[in-house]
Amino acid sequence: MNFELSEEYQDLVDTVREFADEVVAPVSAKHDEEHSFPYAVVDQMADMGLFGLPFPEEFGGMGGDYFALCLALEQLARVDQSVAITLEAGVSLGAMPVYRFGTEEQKREWLPLLASGKALGGFGLTESEAGSDASGTKTTAKLVDGEWVINGTKEFITNSGTDITRLVTVTAVTDTITREDGSVKKEISTILVPSDTPGFKAEKAYNKVGWNASDTHPLTLTDVRVPEANLLGTRGRGYANFLQILDEGRIAIAALATGAAQGCVEESIKYAKERQAFGTNIGSFQSIQFKIARMQARAHTARLAYYDAASRMLAGKPFKTQASIAKLVAGEAAMDNARDATQIFGGYGFINEFTVSRHYRDSKILEVGEGTTEVQLMLIARELGL
Ligand SMILES: Cc1cc2nc3c(=O)[nH]c(=O)nc-3n(C[C@H](O)[C@H](O)[C@H](O)COP(=O)(O)OP(=O)(O)OC[C@H]3O[C@@H](n4cnc5c(N)ncnc54)[C@H](O)[C@@H]3O)c2cc1C
Repeated sequence: MNFELSEEYQDLVDTVREFADEVVAPVSAKHDEEHSFPYAVVDQMADMGLFGLPFPEEFGGMGGDYFALCLALEQLARVDQSVAITLEAGVSLGAMPVYRFGTEEQKREWLPLLASGKALGGFGLTESEAGSDASGTKTTAKLVDGEWVINGTKEFITNSGTDITRLVTVTAVTDTITREDGSVKKEISTILVPSDTPGFKAEKAYNKVGWNASDTHPLTLTDVRVPEANLLGTRGRGYANFLQILDEGRIAIAALATGAAQGCVEESIKYAKERQAFGTNIGSFQSIQFKIARMQARAHTARLAYYDAASRMLAGKPFKTQASIAKLVAGEAAMDNARDATQIFGGYGFINEFTVSRHYRDSKILEVGEGTTEVQLMLIARELGL
C-alpha cells in the first residue's frame, strides 16, 4: 500500500499549484465580486491541457487518467472553487458522458473540442421536481421523422450559458411503459443537445451564495430538434448512465472539497503567524493551534478518502461506496474548515474579499451538489445492508 504520488503526478500537482497561486488567485476575489466568468483563466487552463487530462490523445486529450484530473482540481480549489468546478463540470460532466457512452462518431465529433477546453459541455439532469430523486424527470423527447423533439426545463446546470458553451447532454423521458399493476415506468434516455440548436435557451444566471464565478443557469427546451443519432448510449439507459457519471463525479468533487479544506488550513497558518493580539501572534494560543491541527486532520482524511476511491476506480474495482464516503467526508471537511478558518480571521473572516470567507460561502454547495450528504449516507447505508 503506497499513497505516494509518482513523479508524473507530482509534476502535475506542482505545475497546477503554481498556476493556481500565480494566475488564478490574483483575480479570484474580483470575479467573485463581479459574478463574472473567468474566461482568461479558463483559456489558460485550456492551453495547459487541463480539460483533456483524462482522455486519450487520439481524442485530443493528454493521455492521463481520472486521478490526474482530481489532483488538478484539488490544487485549483485551494484558491478558487469556482475555477475548479468549471473544470470539474467541463470534464467529468460535460465531456465524460460522451467518452463513456458515445459512439465512435460522437466521440470524434465532440471530444477533441471539449478536451481542448476551448468549448464547454454541461450535464442537464436536475429539474424542479427531479433532484435527489432524478427519476422524477419530466422533460420529454419524442422521435418525430428521424429527429428527437425535446421539451422541458432543467435547473442549476453548470457551464450551460457561457460564451464558449457548445453542448449540454440532457436526460429526457423517451417513452412510458405501463406495468401489469397499472403503474407507469419511465424510459429515460440521454441526448446530446448542441447549445446553438433553436429552442435551447439558457435563462438568466442564478444569483448564488457562492461559486459566483462559475456559470449556472436554468434551461428551457422548447421544441428542440436534434437528429436521432444524438441519442447517447442505449435508449432507456440514460438514468443508469448518469448515475455512473455521478459516481465518478463524486471522487472529483471530493478532490475539489479536499483542496478547499487545505486552502483554509494554509490561509489560517499564514494569518495565525501574522495577526497580533495581547502582545503576541494569535498562532501562539493553543486554542488556535488546536483548531488548525484539527483542520489539517480533516483535509488529510479527505485526501486519503478520495485517493482510495480513485485508486479503486482506476484498478477496475467497485468504487461506488468509497466515492460516496470520499464525497461525504471531504464536503464536510471543507465546510467545517471554512467555518474554523473564518473564526480564526475574526472580523476579517466576514469580509468577502478574503479567501477564507469565499470558502465559507462556496463550501456549502459541496454538501449538496452531485448528491447531497443525505444521498451519500443512503448509499453507504444500503451497502451496509440497511
Ligand atoms: C451551483 C449548483 C450547480 C449545480 N450543477 C448541476 C449540473 O451541472 N447538472 C445538474 O444536473 N444538476 C446540478 N445541480 C443540482 C444539484 O445536483 C441538486 O441541487 C442536488 O442534487 C439536490 O437536488 P435538489 O436541489 O432538488 O434537492 P432535493 O432533492 O429536493 O433535496 C432537498 C433536501 O431533502 C433531502 N432528501 C431528498 N431525498 C431524501 C431522502 N430519500 N432521504 C433523506 N433526505 C432526502 C436532501 O438531502 C436535501 O437535504 C447544481 C446545483 C447547484 C446549486
